[in-house]
Amino acid sequence: MSNTQTEEFIDYFEMLGVNPNDDSDTIAGAFRRKAKEMHPDVTGMQGHDDFTRLQDAYETLTNPHKREKYLERHRLTIASRSLIELKPMVRDLFDDMIEYFKDLSGIRRKNFLSLVTSSRYREYDKVFDLEIPLESTCHNCKGIGAIASYSCDVCGGTGILQQTKRVRLEVPGGTPDGMLFTKELDDYKIVFRVTYG
Ligand SMILES: [Zn+2]
Repeated sequence: MSNTQTEEFIDYFEMLGVNPNDDSDTIAGAFRRKAKEMHPDVTGMQGHDDFTRLQDAYETLTNPHKREKYLERHRLTIASRSLIELKPMVRDLFDDMIEYFKDLSGIRRKNFLSLVTSSRYREYDKVFDLEIPLESTCHNCKGIGAIASYSCDVCGGTGILQQTKRVRLEVPGGTPDGMLFTKELDDYKIVFRVTYG
């Protein structure tokens, strides 16, 4: 698991006390109230940087182009901050869903992952950049682990190949608890179960 965001990120929505879906009028109103509180005439010189950041927030969120650019980073950052846990699902309830499945490209193995995200950011759009461990059926031995009487060189006799893949998962704001998201990736089919913690 990792995130590409390294530079400091300021949550302008949090700063203004508004939501990402609020319209320009709401944002402008919030800005005017905060600007009165935070103006350097009130707070003195030490408040100057905060006031500059507040002006940046307003300019960014009320300019459609800047806002869209900012929202791209916001979705990634919120996802990274809200991620509590990502791990393979325990195979019980979903046994029938996670076993091998057949389609036009042959037999593949479904990968079932549990993603727990903070309920604090439930209403925010999130984009997770994830590195996840994946299993697929060995193409060399077709999952048997051996060819003739020799152990398969490709999978070491397990019949399963382990790989780490980078996957981008978009989870819209307000997604219900327990919702399933499916991603197709090369030879893999990945099912994420999103819950809140
Ligand atoms: Zn093999």
